[in-house]
Amino acid sequence: MPMKHHRMQLPREILIGDNVTDLTAEVCRRLGFKDSAFLVTGEKTFEILGKKIRDHLQDAGFETKCHIARLTTADEVKSIEAEISEFMPEVVFGVGGGSKIDLAKFSSAELHIPFISVPSSASHDGIASPVASLDFLGKPYSVMAQSPIAIIVDTEVIINSPYRLIASGCGDVLAKFTAVRDWRLAHSIKNEYYGDYAANLAELGARHIVKNAKSIKPNNKEGLRILLEALISCGVSMGIAGSSRPCSGSEHLFSHALKKLRKTPPLHGESCGVGTILMAYLHGIDWKKIRETLREVGAPTTAEDLGIDPEVIVEAILLAKDIRPERFTILNLKRLDYREARRIAIETGVIEH
Ligand SMILES: [Zn+2]
Repeated sequence: MPMKHHRMQLPREILIGDNVTDLTAEVCRRLGFKDSAFLVTGEKTFEILGKKIRDHLQDAGFETKCHIARLTTADEVKSIEAEISEFMPEVVFGVGGGSKIDLAKFSSAELHIPFISVPSSASHDGIASPVASLDFLGKPYSVMAQSPIAIIVDTEVIINSPYRLIASGCGDVLAKFTAVRDWRLAHSIKNEYYGDYAANLAELGARHIVKNAKSIKPNNKEGLRILLEALISCGVSMGIAGSSRPCSGSEHLFSHALKKLRKTPPLHGESCGVGTILMAYLHGIDWKKIRETLREVGAPTTAEDLGIDPEVIVEAILLAKDIRPERFTILNLKRLDYREARRIAIETGVIEH
């Protein structure tokens, strides 16, 4: 039988360390970009990081253009794409937190221009993944865009970001314990494509966090490096899988459901972390270890920590399976009713009563 083709996209250069943004022009040249670069950044991140990169590239002889993004609407994307089309840069940079990176990733992919990711925080695995999550697409989850051709992570910038973002990043990595189990389930029950290598790589990231949780603390650069490596290995696992499957399962559906139910949801990784405790319980794996790790790194483990009403947690567990019907997970298998959803939330200590 002929084998169906499978496309993988991987970054070519990954740079992590203090002040590595000073090497941006050098990275560009090694990748064959010599003349022009377009930057998508935010108001705050322009001050923290965007300006520095723009000036550095200009000093190195690059013609640059900067778009300061304020929203993640269709209009914002349209105006970014129009500016890129007019300027036709060799490469597009996403400089900032999640939304700026996603805007750059999405619009550069649409225009078939390579993309470089320069995150200002370590709060989720989108910094290295080929998927983007943008509200205007009408889907609360991520869609395929393109993998960054390079990732430049300045640890000096990230260590100075609020620690809450780093703890949230740990939640997004621990989510891989349940995501890969959901993927295996979809493979065995629905015959969905499954790649063991990509699954193991994502899981390795999660195990890396469990093993090193003690060093993930405010102002601990060694702990930050561990988290960054884990986030990048998760992003790469999606590039290998060609989808978000190894990194996003029922726990992400729970997080998306919470986002739908609450106007001001917790951070992505925070709700994914709590979702992982709940879904690990359903999968029959060591949910206590996951909870202990989240506590150790200072991430939320309860409704109260998340600032969410206990009833909304139960509602989100029930709503989760309807968020993305084609994504088969443990929730399709268990078909929880209100009473069971509540019991699980109480048993795992996510809600009190
Ligand atoms: Zn995620």
